[in-house]
Amino acid sequence: MSSIKIPKPEEMIRINYKPPETPWMDTPVDFRPGTWSYSGAAKNLVYLGMPNPRAWQPYEEDWKLPENWKEIILEGMRERLDKYRSFRLFMDICVRCGACADKCHFYIGGGDPKNMPVLRAELLRSVYRRYFTESGKRFGRLAGARELTVDVLKEWFYYFYQCTECRRCSVYCPYGIDQAEITIMGRELLNLVGCNINWVIEPVANCFRTGNHLGIQPGGIKDMLEFLAEDIEERTGVRVDVPINKKGADVLFVVPSGDYFADPGTYTCMGYMMLFHEIGLNYTFSTYASEGGNFGLFTSHEMVKRLNHKLYAEAKRLGVKWILGGECGHMWRVIHEYMDTMNGPADFLAEPVSPITGTLFENARSTKMVHIAEFTADLIKNGKLKLDPARNDHLRITFHDSCNPARAMGLLEEPRYVIKHAARYFYEMPEDTIREKTLCCGGGAGLGNDENIEMRMRGGMPRAMAVKHVREKHDVNRIACMCAIDRSTLSSLMDYWVPGVTVMGVHELLANALVMKGERERSTDLRGEPLKERTNDEAL
Ligand code: SF4
Ligand code: SF4
Repeated sequence: MSSIKIPKPEEMIRINYKPPETPWMDTPVDFRPGTWSYSGAAKNLVYLGMPNPRAWQPYEEDWKLPENWKEIILEGMRERLDKYRSFRLFMDICVRCGACADKCHFYIGGGDPKNMPVLRAELLRSVYRRYFTESGKRFGRLAGARELTVDVLKEWFYYFYQCTECRRCSVYCPYGIDQAEITIMGRELLNLVGCNINWVIEPVANCFRTGNHLGIQPGGIKDMLEFLAEDIEERTGVRVDVPINKKGADVLFVVPSGDYFADPGTYTCMGYMMLFHEIGLNYTFSTYASEGGNFGLFTSHEMVKRLNHKLYAEAKRLGVKWILGGECGHMWRVIHEYMDTMNGPADFLAEPVSPITGTLFENARSTKMVHIAEFTADLIKNGKLKLDPARNDHLRITFHDSCNPARAMGLLEEPRYVIKHAARYFYEMPEDTIREKTLCCGGGAGLGNDENIEMRMRGGMPRAMAVKHVREKHDVNRIACMCAIDRSTLSSLMDYWVPGVTVMGVHELLANALVMKGERERSTDLRGEPLKERTNDEAL
């Protein structure tokens, strides 16, 4: 965890919901340690050809903005209001009903009114009114309008980088206002004058240079996957193939790089490899499309498009039939919500049909990209896997619906179906914290860095409290999820709020239970932790 000192949980939980004495427009931002992220490093901006590369930090007085920064922002806003109908609509239609006000995890965990989604949007709307509406131009503050100043820009930076674009608030909005879209616009405008965070810009620059967020070179990817294959052999006695950049494979398999490079994602990656070996899937990893995640989503629409294109260019180059995607979160939002209009439809690929079961994945007809949870649930439904759920008896599991698979693609039943076939002790968290209403981990959208640690712990607190509930009620010791960011951020969140609960991917759980042909009797799970002893009645 970060070296920045943060309050202990018993202090953090005493949240002050009392709003400041001053009106919101007159309350300046306080960049206190632990609540903001470092600025984008100049070298990364230069690499990406982005404006105003320089050395600066958010807590400094002088942000070294270009002289005409105000014109740049207002012109950028005008362009986007013309281009994106949704943006103009979201600027106009909020009736301030307040239904979203207490739905954001950052407001729940921090008590800052500017983290109420309605007020977060007002930060941008107030400027929109001042420069783009008649009432705002004439009546100014009376009409909820305000001048664009450096302080307003700082406020945008602070609060648009305290929104994980999770879209929980949108579920409750009667008008369907999508706060994530507003945050994306806010960040996009900030980017025009070089105000961005390094935890987003560095992964994007790495992705352009090496194909993945972590900047791993092809040799490193190959070594890591082979290392995981050795681990699988050690645990199971089965040697799995590591197909890389294989032309003519049926399926290109794309994962977030966290899955093959960081624990506990590596166990999920071992799970994929074991599954594909067992069913004899003709697939390939790619060292070019070596990242399913798309941090462009946290930067600008243009960046999303450029990074998304890479996956399809590689599918074309390798001549695969279609793409299978691993347990990533925002990758799926890009694929399901933007891909078709940005780079699609992917007509050059074949219809996504499982070569094992013959199932056509209708929902992926246009994108030609299938989620691994759908693929595996279909295998189970068609009796293609031999599973021994008792091998997971040492785990008492709950499931965290990752924001994007849940809200951006409605993937609610498939992971539960897989979990229930792979394990016997599964407990849901309370209804208003799961499925479409799931609570964010607090570290998505590029906010999972160490310097922002207090906001992460505050933002993740509502999710952690729901885990605590099932820990106390059912002795839950493991939280499963389908997102690489979650696997990383939930780990520190659990250590802070609910010690004793660890994090795993769904395919790690599946692989623990997967009975492979030719395997030796397993005494440990994929992590090397001993399995629970069985009674005679429970022998497989
Ligand atoms: S973090 Fe999520 S709930 Fe909060 S404002 Fe952003 S999209 Fe809405
Ligand atoms: S729920 Fe929708 S309409 Fe109501 S205040 Fe929030 S954003 Fe505005």
